Order: sequence, then structure tokens, then C-alpha cells
Amino acid sequence: MKITTAFLIALVMLTSPIATAGFKTGFESEFEIEPDKKAHIKNIILLIGDGMGPQQLGLLFSYARFAPDSIYKGQPTAIERFMEAGINGLSLTSPAEKIVTDSACSATQLATGFVSGSEMIGVNADGDPVETVLELAQRRGKATGLVSDTRLTHATPAAFAAHQPHRSLENEIAVEMLQQRVDVMLSGGLRHWIPAEVNDKGPLYQELKQRSGGHIRLTSKRKDSRNLLQEAQAAGYHVVFNREQLAPVNSPVLGLFSHSGMANGITDSQQQDNPERKEPTLKEMTLKALELLSADPDGFFLMVEGGQIDWAGHDNDVGRMLHEMIKFDEAVAAVYTWAAQRDDTIVLLTADHETGGFGFSYSSHQLPEGRTLPGKAFNDRLFKPRFNFIDRSILSQIYTQAKSYEAIGKEIDKLPKDQQNAEKVAEMLHRYTGFPVLATEAAYILGEPNKLDKHDKPRAQIHDFKEFYVYPKSLRSNLIGRVLAKYQGVTWGTGTHTATPVTVSAIGPVDQTRLINGINTHPEIGSLLKQWIGGD
Ligand code: MG
Ligand code: ZN
Repeated sequence: MKITTAFLIALVMLTSPIATAGFKTGFESEFEIEPDKKAHIKNIILLIGDGMGPQQLGLLFSYARFAPDSIYKGQPTAIERFMEAGINGLSLTSPAEKIVTDSACSATQLATGFVSGSEMIGVNADGDPVETVLELAQRRGKATGLVSDTRLTHATPAAFAAHQPHRSLENEIAVEMLQQRVDVMLSGGLRHWIPAEVNDKGPLYQELKQRSGGHIRLTSKRKDSRNLLQEAQAAGYHVVFNREQLAPVNSPVLGLFSHSGMANGITDSQQQDNPERKEPTLKEMTLKALELLSADPDGFFLMVEGGQIDWAGHDNDVGRMLHEMIKFDEAVAAVYTWAAQRDDTIVLLTADHETGGFGFSYSSHQLPEGRTLPGKAFNDRLFKPRFNFIDRSILSQIYTQAKSYEAIGKEIDKLPKDQQNAEKVAEMLHRYTGFPVLATEAAYILGEPNKLDKHDKPRAQIHDFKEFYVYPKSLRSNLIGRVLAKYQGVTWGTGTHTATPVTVSAIGPVDQTRLINGINTHPEIGSLLKQWIGGD
């Protein structure tokens, strides 16, 4: 539904009393929806691109429009169609007292409508548990669902169905999420749901191996003997581990499809047409959740997360990030198709923050040749810009990246010692990315002999802005990103998050969705979600 300006103006005139009530300041939520308008939204679907700042959207949109052989073939992405059809604003994601947020705090603010603190799950800034939009939906008799391509207990989904002082308490979060009786839970992270005894590879290990289909690494992160899968079944859940088991299943369902995170975007796109594929895609999980939840006559709340856009950002891995964006866009497409013609559903699409300080950037690498142009201004001079403004063919090249930097890094580690040299690494980077990296550049990715990590392996360092590269696991990927940067026309500002405002877009009844127009904060958006689902 395309909303015309005239229609919007007419609407504002008809509903003038709330025009002032919609004004927002600071962190206080000042939204008041008129009583007769309350609780008439049957279904709420929240789509979160983790780490999907405006620059990540730009990567997807630029690829779709400008890549010479874009898979979108001139068609707009689902996110663009969504934004065209809906109301759009920006939102500030900051936590209590600080500027930059993490995913736990950000999701908590979206889930609860309260300002929260860094790395907290489902509690306000003082640390008190507060009701989430999912819990409120349950109180209103609605069905609920959580879908993510990371781990079910990871920060974003956790913030909707758990209350913990810290996001790292994933074993405790699993227990809470199960107690919460969310109807549809589909993600990765089996390692937090199986008892510690599985690590002994005894009978339970064998049984799980049989049941899961053998594609999941079966080691537990639990410190206790609780078998949450068994507890889930005793509570009536269907527990599934692969695509085949998911397809026919009914609600309530607990689907855990991987040991930790699910397939990354590159693997995901390579595997899509493989009939042997065990993991469902984000889109397949989303469609299944919609099928099951929409059967509830009271309506539903569903959160779907594209969670690995963030992981690609932390790794400064642009090829993977493009594929993560496409993966998320496919899930958005599924939801958009389901919801676009409905008047009882609001779909809200946003991010929790930006990751990586990413962007295309012009440079001095390979300066352009001069060429003639037919226009009058160039009658007597060549068109020869002073800098490399980045050829659009780069977008196609980025799409063809065949492995994530993480996977390339693991492959480097697996090489025999005598092959772990700059020539070999340069050859691998060229093979997997198509960019002609030199051995002198690739040397930067290998370890420095005087810097040993805890396994006594030489460890390469980042020397500028090094305080912003806080994850040792990502370091090798970050270095690969830096070496490829000039070829890709891409720069990265950080290995963590930035505080840029993120987009927030909504489709559904415009008298409600228009409240997100302009500049918001995430607690305000969360507060709106709760009012829409029928808050008191
Ligand atoms: Mg997340
Ligand atoms: Zn992150």
C-alpha cells in the first residue's frame, strides 16, 4: 500500500488531538494512543537486522541496483519495497548514561520500552526485570515466536524472553526461555540446551546424534545435568534439529539447528539449492513461524533476527556482510508478502546498532585514466577525476567472495607450517575473493614472531585504533579486511559498534505506524510496540 502525502495530511487533520501527543523528547516515552485505538492490532512482527546501520542498507541497495550482474536483476530489494510502502524514521539506540549500545541492551530497550544498561537482558537500567512485548502478548492470549540465525540464547532473542544481569549467562537464559513457553523458537545454539554429560560421548550423545541427523556438533556448554530438550518435550514441545523435521511440525516447537550460530550468509547462499541441506534458512524458519503462529485466533507476536550482519561487521568482512544482508532481505520478503495486504498487523523493521563503522570510500588506489565525454563541458578536456570513486563492478566482485574471512583464517591455521607464508596466503585470498592481493600485503595477516597468543602462536596485531579491536577471535579477519580494503573500495572504522542512528520502518495501519516518523529512541519504539499489542 503506497501512502500518498494527501492521504497523510487528511489523516493528520482527522486525528489532530494525537498530533501533539506524538511529540517525543529524551528517553521518556510520551506516546499516548487514544483509548478506542488501543489493542486493535492483532499481530506484531518485529524484524531486527543486528548491526544493520544505514551503511549496511546502502551496501545491499547499491549491490541490488548497481552491480552489473545483481541477483536482483533490476528489481528492488524487499527492504526497499517495505520502506516504500511504510512509514520511516530514525532511532537512537544509546543505553542508559552511555552513547554506544550492545545488542543485549538494544534488544532489551526494543523489547520492554524501558531504558536499559549495557549487556543487560530484559531488565531496566536499575536491573529490575520488566515485562517484554512478548510476555505482554502472552498475557493478551496471543501466540509468540522467536527466530534467529545466531543462537536462541544469544542477546537479541534472549532479551524478549529472559531477564538476566548479563548476556553471557546463556545457560540460565535457556532455562528461562523454556519456562517462558514461547510457542515457536527456531535458531541455533544447541550447546546450551543439552547436559554436560553429552561431552562424555555416552548413550545420550549417541541418541542425540541419531535424532539430530548427525550434522550438529554435540558438545555442551552447560555446567549441570539439565537436559532442557527432555524438559521441553515433557512440557509439550516438539523438538526438532533439521529442515526435514521442521517442515511438518506443529506448535509448540523448539528447533535448534546448530551447535552455535547457524550457517553464515556465504555458506547459506552456496547451500540453498543443495537437497541434502540440513539447516533451514532464515526465510524457511520465518515462513514456518508465520504458518504456526497465524493459526492462533487471538493473533501473535513474532521477532525475526538477521543476527549475523553484526558478526560480519565485527570481522570487517564485506563479502559476508553482503550475503548476510541478502539472507535477511529474503526473510523480510517472506514477511512482507504475508503482511502487505493485511490491516490487522504491524510489521516493524529496524536494527539494534551499526557494526564496523563500515562504508565505501573513494581513494588514491588505481587512479582513473582520462577519457572523452560527448557533453559540451568536455569538448576540450578529458573526464579524469582526481581519485578512484570505486567502480560498480566491485559490487559484483564482492558478491562472488567464496568464503568468509573467518573460514579463510581457519584454513590458514590448518596449513602445514612450511606453507604458512605470505605467498600462500596471498594466493588463497586471491582465490576466495578474486582480488589480486600481493604477498607483501598478505604478510600483514600472518603473525608477528615477537607477539605470541595464549597458545604460543605468533599473533598479528592491529596497530591503529587497536583499543577498538576487542575480540581476539576476529583479529585475523580484521587484518584480512584491511588488506583487501583498497581493492574493495571499503573502509572500516572499528571492530565493535557505532552509535549512528538506525532506520526504523513500519507497515500496517497508518494511524499507528506514523508515530515512528521522525527521530525516535529505541525505548520509545519498544514502548510503542507494547501499546500496539495491547499494553495497559
Ligand atoms: Mg543479535
Ligand atoms: Zn555486535
